[in-house]
Amino acid sequence: MSSLELKPAIEADEWRTAQSQFDEAAELIKLEPWLRDVLREVQREFTCHFPVNLDNGHTRVFTGYRVQHNIHRGPAKGGIRYHPDVSLDEVKALAMWMTWKCAVVNIPYGGAKGGVIVDPRTLSPNELEHLTRRFATEISILVGPDRDIPAPDVGTNAQVMAWFMDTLSMHRGYSVTASVTGKPVEVGGSLGRADATGRGVMICTVAALETMGLKPFNQRVVVQGFGNVGSVSARLLEEAGCQVVAVSEDYGGIYNPLGLPVKKLLEYRAREGTLKGFPGAELVSNEDLLRIECDVLVPAALENQINSLNAGYLQCKLIVEGANGPTTPEADEILRKRGIVLVPDILANAGGVTVSYFEWVQDLQSFFWSEHEINARLESIMKRAFHEVLAIRDEKKVDLRMAAYLLAVNRVAIATADRGIYP
Ligand code: NAD
Repeated sequence: MSSLELKPAIEADEWRTAQSQFDEAAELIKLEPWLRDVLREVQREFTCHFPVNLDNGHTRVFTGYRVQHNIHRGPAKGGIRYHPDVSLDEVKALAMWMTWKCAVVNIPYGGAKGGVIVDPRTLSPNELEHLTRRFATEISILVGPDRDIPAPDVGTNAQVMAWFMDTLSMHRGYSVTASVTGKPVEVGGSLGRADATGRGVMICTVAALETMGLKPFNQRVVVQGFGNVGSVSARLLEEAGCQVVAVSEDYGGIYNPLGLPVKKLLEYRAREGTLKGFPGAELVSNEDLLRIECDVLVPAALENQINSLNAGYLQCKLIVEGANGPTTPEADEILRKRGIVLVPDILANAGGVTVSYFEWVQDLQSFFWSEHEINARLESIMKRAFHEVLAIRDEKKVDLRMAAYLLAVNRVAIATADRGIYP
């Protein structure tokens, strides 16, 4: 059984989670009622149903969404998810989290998200391209470099972003590279973007360990989800001196208490298409992976993985949320009581959107930076945000999630109030 099936139904509602986190922050900063009403809703939600011709000659209709939560600090920004469990409420929550994330790291964007209900692994490359080009066309009435800029998320990658950008460019008749981020470097992508989210996770992990009086050396790390975010986090944490003892994907994970060599594991997975059978490691179920004794747990898969059913059993000192929304409010409460430190998603995984911002700036200027420059700027932004959040935690005596919310909601509320209500 996957851990996704092991969660109380109410906790599986991401939109409820996002709104309740916001409500708590709004209460603490005594936000004016009208600002609460504006910010606890999304500004725009778009649903489309569109046909795609399949390789077998049949036509299938897919459903997709693009949601913009708030655009008062700048154009909307957020990834596109291809997954069978995508729903409007999930996309709304992810869009709201994007608004707070951009505000935590103080980059000039609002929040958006998109998704299509599809398991991309069931499509051929040809079908995937057609689905992408048609979905890009459907949402083209909303997106563009000054309006709303998509990026990769679960189930999408640099190739999908190249098709997206090409489709939007074909409509205009010229290349609009800044319309999408997370593209291949050859078509206006940024050096360092592929690693950016995982690099931010690593920077936050090291910074959080430091506040706990710990060094990365030999800290045992468990990573749930071995995709873009999880695999890069694992590799960079190993480079920072940690020992990665377990990793997982949707079908389960592998564990070696003496440590897994991450680079070899990446080569193995690229060759075999699975983690299963990696020499020297034992198989572990998704549920058991969360109970492994370790120092750092990095959830880097999907939402609601840490919930009231398992939060009491986690055996880690620190959680760094690579994924968006991996912890339910009920679990947060349990973890707080147990003294487990948690670096929240809107801070921990903000490295991706930060380098997406660099990519957009480079595309707009047609002037590209070196990887060293990008990584140095990313590190400085992540460290600044981490320490700003830490200072609020200490001043307001809240946990790191609420401290990040207080910072973000305040910034967005000021922008929304300054702009006023039109007309
Ligand atoms: P991805 O598609 O590259 O990888 C997802 C991984 O999670 C896969 O390895 C998949 O097998 C695994 N997975 C799915 N369900 C699982 C389960 N129940 N248990 C264990 N593993 C499971 O996606 P990604 O881009 O790495 O995104 C992962 C998370 O990080 C998502 O929450 C996403 O929103 C968030 N995120 C991504 C980025 C980015 O730049 N890609 C940025 C910020 C946040």
